[in-house]
Amino acid sequence: MEHDKTTRYYQYLEKLTDEMNDPDHFDRAQFVALLTEISEFFGLSKGVTEFYENVMMEQRGIGEVLIDYDNGHGDVCIVDRRFITKTQAVIRGRLYIAAETPMLPDEDIRRGDLIMRCVLGLVSRNRLIDTVETLMFHDQSGFPNLRAFARFMSHECMNGGISGRTAVHFNLRHFGMINHDIGRAQGDIVMHNYFDLLDETIGETGIICRVGGDNFVMVCENQYVEQVLEILSGYPVPFGNEQRVDVSGYVGVYVLPDGFIWTQIGDIMDKVTAASQAAKRGNHGNIVYFDQKMHDMKENQVRIQALFPLALEKHEFHAFYQPKVDVYTGRIVGAEALCRWFHDGQIVPPGQFIPVLEQNTDICQLDFYMLETACEHLRKWLNEGRNVVRISVNLSRKHLMNVDLLDRLLSIIDRHLIPHEYIEIELTETTTEVEFNSLKRVVSGLQRVGIFTSVDDFGMGYSSLNLIRELPWNVLKIDRCFVPPDDETDTSTTSLMYKHVIAMTQDMGLECITEGVETRRQVDVLRKNHCGIAQGFFFDKPLPVEEFEKRLDQQFYPI
Ligand code: C2E
Ligand code: MG
Ligand code: MG
Repeated sequence: MEHDKTTRYYQYLEKLTDEMNDPDHFDRAQFVALLTEISEFFGLSKGVTEFYENVMMEQRGIGEVLIDYDNGHGDVCIVDRRFITKTQAVIRGRLYIAAETPMLPDEDIRRGDLIMRCVLGLVSRNRLIDTVETLMFHDQSGFPNLRAFARFMSHECMNGGISGRTAVHFNLRHFGMINHDIGRAQGDIVMHNYFDLLDETIGETGIICRVGGDNFVMVCENQYVEQVLEILSGYPVPFGNEQRVDVSGYVGVYVLPDGFIWTQIGDIMDKVTAASQAAKRGNHGNIVYFDQKMHDMKENQVRIQALFPLALEKHEFHAFYQPKVDVYTGRIVGAEALCRWFHDGQIVPPGQFIPVLEQNTDICQLDFYMLETACEHLRKWLNEGRNVVRISVNLSRKHLMNVDLLDRLLSIIDRHLIPHEYIEIELTETTTEVEFNSLKRVVSGLQRVGIFTSVDDFGMGYSSLNLIRELPWNVLKIDRCFVPPDDETDTSTTSLMYKHVIAMTQDMGLECITEGVETRRQVDVLRKNHCGIAQGFFFDKPLPVEEFEKRLDQQFYPI
């Protein structure tokens, strides 16, 4: 009899050890069946294992309690094991017999104890796997992360492929504002609720993950796409006390081609992200489907960013100068330095590379380089005793966050010993309050040291009169879209606005220039409205430095 017991005991230990060694195939039901068999064999009435994240949670009774076996009679505890792991988690196991059962022999209690310790080992191992899974495949807010996305995709691809599905990338619109309005804690709830709603919509055959911040990516069956896009177009999401807030996204969509293989996951990400960025840039609505043109643009962007450092080092960027002309006398009163890239025997216009360089802070390096170049030219002209005019240089808005900007600009200008009145800095309008404050700091700082500042492209973006009133600008550059067409009558809105903007800025003591002047009729319009200075193709295109020097020497345009 004792011999039989020993044999069975070893068999059970062996089975438990096997379970330990095969974590991937752990089956809770099978495990409970084994524990039931063991409990019945030893005459136990109950077995319980408990898991708590730490001692405090244990004291408060918040944890996981698993009843491994219970025949309803267990009330005398014969084994009680409690371990505290290195991570401060508490694992506890207890065995019971019924009150009427005679106490087990010491040997059996020892065996029960050993089996219990094996079970606790298994429980903590499984918890560890759960924890690793949570940490690896979720971010700190509990959303599945990109690793979860990659795992899902590779799993699906290996189990019958992923055709018939669509990838969607979205950035929540104005989520910063939502956080600001309802508070961060409620904002988190809104984000989770919105996520859950989408997650439910796409069901088990899809996945949705947070890429970071308020950016998400998902893959779902084509049949759910319409519903998903409806939610992403705007949905009242509940939070707090029966309140709701409207949430929507800038959305990129990419329908996955047949025969997709999981090594192309990076490719999917590139495509849906490019599409949602296009949505964010506006012009095409808030939902944009990926197309090849977008991909080519992205490739071009990567190419330019890669070429930029060497191009700068090799002096491939040149300053061209476009004269600013007094419309009454024809005299050159200034010029704007505009960048041209000489690459592979071609001249690349700024429209093709400036927006790319503005995606990161490369543009700042280029702007400093252009200022440096303009200062070198000015120094040369001053040394040569030429008729020198004020040169304006464009500064991207990307500089505004740089607290050392003023020092950097001054160090360049002063190193070339350029009198400050020969330098003008062109800045475009801003839309956010933070940028507005930085702009104020920069413009005021330049004003203090006698460097001219101008509002570039006025009238093109969201022009605000506050911008002119609150900042000490010197010059207002009116964009060509503000200039009334030749044939327009004097009472059209465009004509009226043009006339009054010029009158207003001049009353405020600002210089006024109109950009993009192409025809003689437009020059007449400028004169009629008392805008004294023009810049545009009518006089000259941006010129290479040698050409511009000739214009400087001539001093006047025939008018
Ligand atoms: P912007 O500062 O408004 O410069 C004026 C643009 O209008 C120039 O384009 C100029 O060639 C163009 N333009 C001048 N007159 C006429 C005209 O009569 N008709 C038409 N249709 N266009 C005219 P460009 O040189 O292609 O530069 C485009 C933009 O690129 C500039 O606009 C400026 O925002 C940016 N940019 C150029 N160089 C630099 C630079 O060094 N740094 C920065 N940050 N931006 C630059
Ligand atoms: Mg400009
Ligand atoms: Mg402009």
